[in-house]
Amino acid sequence: MTSPKPRPGILDINPYVAGTSRLTGIDRVIKLSSNEGALGPSPRALAAYQAMAGEMHRYPDGHAVALREALAARDGLKAEQIVCGAGSDELLQLLVRGYAGFGDEVLYSRHGFLVYPIAAKASGATPVFAEEIDLTASVDNLLAAVTERTRILFIANPNNPTGTYLSVSEMRRLRDGLPGHVLLVIDAAYAEFADRNDYSPGADLVETSENVVMTRTFSKIYGMGGLRLGWAYCPPAVADVLNRVRGPFNVSSAALEAGLAAVEDGEFLDLAQRHNSYWRAWFEEKVRSLGLETIPSVTNFILVRFPGEAGRDAAAADVFLRGKGIIVRAMGTYGLSDCLRITIGRDDEMQAAVAALAEFRGA
Ligand code: PMP
Repeated sequence: MTSPKPRPGILDINPYVAGTSRLTGIDRVIKLSSNEGALGPSPRALAAYQAMAGEMHRYPDGHAVALREALAARDGLKAEQIVCGAGSDELLQLLVRGYAGFGDEVLYSRHGFLVYPIAAKASGATPVFAEEIDLTASVDNLLAAVTERTRILFIANPNNPTGTYLSVSEMRRLRDGLPGHVLLVIDAAYAEFADRNDYSPGADLVETSENVVMTRTFSKIYGMGGLRLGWAYCPPAVADVLNRVRGPFNVSSAALEAGLAAVEDGEFLDLAQRHNSYWRAWFEEKVRSLGLETIPSVTNFILVRFPGEAGRDAAAADVFLRGKGIIVRAMGTYGLSDCLRITIGRDDEMQAAVAALAEFRGA
């Protein structure tokens, strides 16, 4: 008997494995594994979401007009160059669908976000990575890896899972060095956490280039990962491509309404930024005082490196933390098996994580 066969390359995809959220036999689970917003959603976003329930039978606005206009007004952008998606994941996939296929290459940095190679392979394109320097994307290595078959260069700025970033001048150097046939996709999912003067999410590069796109998400600082909402800021021709390949109602009405309320709640955004900057510095300092290495982070998570000795390594720490009900992210799938990635959570969650790490280290 013959059976349906997927397209070549599809079965080479390693499926994305999301962080665990349940532990059997443990009542209080502290989940620090998926870089979700520590404070949850803004109360205004939650109220807007709940108010939508009675309209469940209506299709959403397939053009996301109100949300795009609110984002444009807040950030000084052009609403017609914004495209919304079901999470920024969807937009990354749509960009590959629109721009790369069989015989094309999709370039990213060694420890880039796992969705980049998955999206490339799903479209039949070949993922190619450039080596980093000190767990930070290298502009020189990326530019050296570009070929005439490169269609897309994905760069997460700041990057997950390393937490590192490229400065405004490095990003400009990357843009200026790229040939015009390569679409530079700046994935700025963690932009709101990057409290550095020499960081910018990249909207200005979009406005001054025909081949730069910036993607953003409501899953991180806005605490709305479960609703699936993201957006892309694009040159007009790229927005046109995304609008052709996306589904007609790709974003739910609940996500649109909650997103709009979140954009209007600047106070919550400030609070979430202050919370993250404070607890990230606190956590880094405590973890280092336990003799562990942390990779300097501008995001809402920290990569912690453990020594190699059996019983004291990252795998042992992961098991120990789970025993205490604390879920963090093991990094084997990213090729960083000596590290754990730990998300900045609420005050009590960070204190519990430090207490458990201190016990593990025998401090
Ligand atoms: N980009 C990066 C770098 C991420 O870490 C994530 C989430 N893990 C995403 C994009 C996708 O987020 P979402 O689809 O929830 O917007």
